[in-house]
Amino acid sequence: MTHALIVGAGIAGDTLAVFLARDGWQVTVVELAPSLRTGGQTVDLRGDSREVLVDLGLIDSASAHLISQRGIAWIRADGSRLAEMPVEAFDGQGLISKEELLRSDLAAVLHRAAKDAGVKHRFGDTIEEIVDGADGVDVRFRSGGRQRFALVVGADGAHSRTRGIHFGPESRYRKPLGLAHAWFTLREQADTPALDGWALSYNEPGRRGLTARPGHPGHQEIGMTFAAEDVPRDREAQLAVLDDAFAGVGWRADEFLAAARIAPDFALDTYDQIRMDQAWSKGRVVLIGDAAWCTSPLSGLGTALALVGASRLADSLRRHDVRDIPAAARVAAAFESFESAMRPRATAAQKLLPGRIGMVAPKTTFAIRLNAFVMRALQARVLVPLVALLASGRGHHGPALAEARA
Ligand SMILES: Cc1cc2nc3c(=O)[nH]c(=O)nc-3n(C[C@H](O)[C@H](O)[C@H](O)COP(=O)(O)OP(=O)(O)OC[C@H]3O[C@@H](n4cnc5c(N)ncnc54)[C@H](O)[C@@H]3O)c2cc1C
Repeated sequence: MTHALIVGAGIAGDTLAVFLARDGWQVTVVELAPSLRTGGQTVDLRGDSREVLVDLGLIDSASAHLISQRGIAWIRADGSRLAEMPVEAFDGQGLISKEELLRSDLAAVLHRAAKDAGVKHRFGDTIEEIVDGADGVDVRFRSGGRQRFALVVGADGAHSRTRGIHFGPESRYRKPLGLAHAWFTLREQADTPALDGWALSYNEPGRRGLTARPGHPGHQEIGMTFAAEDVPRDREAQLAVLDDAFAGVGWRADEFLAAARIAPDFALDTYDQIRMDQAWSKGRVVLIGDAAWCTSPLSGLGTALALVGASRLADSLRRHDVRDIPAAARVAAAFESFESAMRPRATAAQKLLPGRIGMVAPKTTFAIRLNAFVMRALQARVLVPLVALLASGRGHHGPALAEARA
C-alpha cells in the first residue's frame, strides 16, 4: 500500500487521515501530544463544515455532541446586559447557533473514525528531519527510526514544525495581529455563577476581554483576550503574563485567573495569521489547515477551512491517481490542483473587517459601548434583511457575523 505521513492529529490531520485511509492509503499520523488534545471552545456545524462531515458519514456522530446554547450577551462588570443576540437571531444564522459542539468533541469524533479506518497514530512523537527524494520522503522521527513515505502532510497547526523544517522559519510567514488569547475549561463549583445557556462577553478598556461559554454539563469554557504580539511557551511564564494582563480587571477575572492555574487544558497563544506567498507544497511535502493558511480565531473560519482543506486535498490526490502511481509529477499536479481550490478561500478568510481587532478587544469605554450598540442595531427589524444578505457573501456567516464570532 502507498504510505502517507500526516503530522498533527488536529482537525485537518485526522479529517485527511479518514479520507485517505478510506481511499486505500496506509496512513500514519504523528502527534506531539501524548494523547488527543482536548480543550478549545465551540465550533460550528453550519455550512462547509456540515458538508464535509456529511460526506464522511460523521454528521450524526458530531451532532450528538451539540451544546445547548441560548445566545451571546455582552455584559457590564456586574453581569447586567449591554446587548444580546439569541440563537434565533437572523433565522438561526447569527453569531451563536444551536449547531455548535466543542472542538474537543469534534476532534474525538474524527479521531475515532480515523482509528476505525485503520489509521495508525504515533502519539508523543514528532518529526526531526525530512529528506525529500524522487521516489519518496525519508522521515526521521524524534523517537528514533527512519521511514519512507510517498508523501508527507504538515497538519501541525499555526506553529507547524513541518513548515519550519521544509519551508523556512516561522518568522517568514507569521503575521501577529496584536492580541493574545488564553483558553481553558473551568469546572463549576457550588458558587460559580451559572451561564444558563448564554455565552457571556465582558470587556474592559485597554483591550482586555473575558468570555465564558457553556461547555459540557458542569463546565464552562473560558477565554481571556489581551494585547500582546508574543507570549512565552512555558506554562508558569504564561500564567504570570496572564496575571499581569488581568490585574485589577472586574467581573470574574480573579476567578478565571485562579481556574487557569488548575485547568488541565490551559493554552495561551497569540492571534496570528500565516501567510505563505510561496506554494503550500514543495516536492512530496504539503501543508494544510493552520500550518498553511492560519486565518486566526478572529475569522471564525479556522475549523471550516481545516475540514474543507482536508477534503479538497483528498479529492485532488484521488483525481490524479496518486495512490496507485505515486510518481513525483502526479503528486505535484495533485498538490497544484488542491492549492488552486483552496488558495482563494484562505485568502478571502484572511481579510479582516477594518476595526475588527478593536471589536474583539476594544481600547476605550466608548468603543465597548459602540460595539454593544452595533450588536443591538444589527438586530433592528429594518436592518435584518441587509445583514442576512451580507452574511450570505462568505461561507455560512458573512464577514460581519463570522468575524464577530471569535
Ligand atoms: C487543543 C486546541 C484547542 C483549540 N481551541 C481553539 C479555540 O477555542 N478557538 C479557535 O478559534 N481555535 C482553536 N484552536 C485552533 C483550531 O483548532 C484551528 O484553528 C483549526 O481547527 C485548524 O485546525 P488544524 O488541524 O490546522 O490545527 P490544530 O487544530 O491546531 O491541530 C494541530 C495539531 O498538530 C499538533 N502538533 C503541533 N505541533 C506538532 C509537531 N511538532 N508534531 C506533531 N504534531 C504537532 C497539535 O498538538 C494539534 O493536535 C485550537 C487548537 C487546539 C489544538
